[in-house]
Amino acid sequence: MVLPYKHEPFTDFSNEDNRKKFLAGLDLVNSYLGKDYDLVIGGQRVTTEEKIISINPANKEEVIGRVAKASRDLAEQAMQEALKAFETWRKSKPEMRADILFKAANIVRMRKTEFSALLVKEAGKSWREADADVAEGIDFMEYYARQMLELKEGVPVESRPGELNKFFYIPLGVGVVISPWNFAFAIMAGTTVAALVTGNTVLLKPASATPVVAAKFVEVLEEAGLPAGVLNYIPGSGSEIGDYLVDHPKTRFISFTGSREVGVRIYERAAIVQPGQIWLKRVIAEMGGKDTIVVDKEADLELAAQSIVASAFGFSGQKCSACSRVVVVEDVYEQVINRVTELTNQLQVGDPALFENYTGPVVDQAAFDKIMKYIEIGKQEGTLVAGGEGDNSKGYFIKPTVFKDVAPDAVVMQEEIFGPVVAFTKAKDFDQAIEIANNTEYGLTGAVISNNRDHIEKAREDFHVGNLYFNRGCTGAIVGYQPFGGFNMSGTDSKAGGPDYLLLHMQAKTTSEMF
Ligand code: NAP
Repeated sequence: MVLPYKHEPFTDFSNEDNRKKFLAGLDLVNSYLGKDYDLVIGGQRVTTEEKIISINPANKEEVIGRVAKASRDLAEQAMQEALKAFETWRKSKPEMRADILFKAANIVRMRKTEFSALLVKEAGKSWREADADVAEGIDFMEYYARQMLELKEGVPVESRPGELNKFFYIPLGVGVVISPWNFAFAIMAGTTVAALVTGNTVLLKPASATPVVAAKFVEVLEEAGLPAGVLNYIPGSGSEIGDYLVDHPKTRFISFTGSREVGVRIYERAAIVQPGQIWLKRVIAEMGGKDTIVVDKEADLELAAQSIVASAFGFSGQKCSACSRVVVVEDVYEQVINRVTELTNQLQVGDPALFENYTGPVVDQAAFDKIMKYIEIGKQEGTLVAGGEGDNSKGYFIKPTVFKDVAPDAVVMQEEIFGPVVAFTKAKDFDQAIEIANNTEYGLTGAVISNNRDHIEKAREDFHVGNLYFNRGCTGAIVGYQPFGGFNMSGTDSKAGGPDYLLLHMQAKTTSEMF
């Protein structure tokens, strides 16, 4: 019997035992830093001379791992293995596929502190953020396994006398899964297992900044019983093997999570029918965000300030759902900014391996440079009230930064910064606040802090984002509770961790038999 789905609880770090366990997880990860990791193609370990060097963004000197780097030839070999494996995997029982996910979820649960500690080191997450990332990955496995069990018989349709009609779902084929570094475990694992449990075979290209945690997850799936060739692990350059696989005539679908720029490129390239290609490729794309919290004049202002700070600066603002713009109704504007500034100045910045550090580094030099450039733009476009400084001498640290009096159409109000930077603007009333909230090309998350029922209902209808939250922050969606995904340039309107997500990886077949 399958127990009902319940999300994985977050670890309570106020408990000393849990803190000790986490330190043991960090020790374990420290004991294997710098190791080599191979590609996995058709179940075989394949090494390459060229490596991706994964480093700790809090300490550039520290190498997390040296990971083999797939060339186009190796990507092609992986494609051939995935095509071969598809012929048997597509006929495997959905129950068996679901069981592999349940088993993998359990293995990760047993090694949760190790996986979380690895995210602290490889992605620069704080303990809490890393713990939530791993919990979300476990949730994806538990949730999608159950969803597959519900979908396995298809959906009943009508039959006339002497006729038997059936409607059921079959897999698509070989999927290319391209994942980002910011949820290096959850999104990498979630997008991979959604494709696998539905009967597809997968070529997994993780982000080049975080390939080690993906290598560890591939080992978990092997331990859980996934047959050779069903999942092929091929880290490599996005532009080199990414383009190659997106263009490949045998690629049936692409499941991408990452920036708007790369997502649009994939969408455009995938639309071109290549010689020998006999289908239209499907693209599932989860892209960027420019997420707004709206504060009404009738609102709990302490809740507003706490929600803004947590949503803007958790994981240094490197979440697609991060709050990077705040619109406050003018009556309470100064009050909210003053409290946000106060709370922001209390955040401790430093190596996230130390529990007390809330804000860790940003992911790499390119991110550091880009965010610092936006901070300079922000200084021209508004008034700096907190932060504004960076230090990349040891790791890539940037102080949580707040700008006020920024125009709604300013660059820092429109472009995704993907760092610890939030900008405030004033609205004359709630209607105008919602207008401003909607004036970006994205539509991922948003939140409204208000005690006015009419305003909440207006926002429910008019605030055009995929995930809208009331009287809380705009980050932290939970699988199966708040299915996640955005509108407009935030993606293809899919909802990860939701009841219709798996269908994106399958096609429906109708059979009709006469007696
Ligand atoms: P990114 O630069 O777009 O990279 C994402 C993935 O795409 C990486 O694996 C990258 O490989 C690969 N890639 C790069 N160029 C490619 C190409 N030409 N063809 C195929 N693949 C290519 O994004 P990121 O910096 O990792 O992640 C941050 C972005 O993701 C933000 O914009 C954030 O909002 C978005 N995001 C969205 C969601 C959501 O659910 N909507 C969730 C998380 C993140 P390399 O690493 O080798 O370059």
